[in-house]
Amino acid sequence: MISFTLDDEQESLLRDWQKNHACKYRVEDGNRYTGTFGGADTFTFIPTSVEEVVIVKCACGAEIDLSPEHIFFQKLKKRKDSSK
Ligand SMILES: [Zn+2]
Repeated sequence: MISFTLDDEQESLLRDWQKNHACKYRVEDGNRYTGTFGGADTFTFIPTSVEEVVIVKCACGAEIDLSPEHIFFQKLKKRKDSSK
C-alpha cells in the first residue's frame, strides 16, 4: 500500500484555506458548492528526494502549497514581516 498523509499543521492550513480563499463556488453558508457530490479539491502529492511536495487545487483554480519547505519559508517570511 502507498498512502499520502497531511500532518496536523498541513491539515490546519488546508482547512483554513478551504474556508477562506476567495472562491466563486462559495455559497451563503460559507461552504463551497461544486455539485451534489462535492469534489472541489484535487490533491497532488509529488514524492521527491528532499520532501513530499503537496499541492491542493480548488475547482475555482485557487491553489495552496502545503509542501513542508514552502510552509517553513512562509513562516520565516511572516516572522520577518512582523519584526519590521
Ligand atoms: Zn475555490
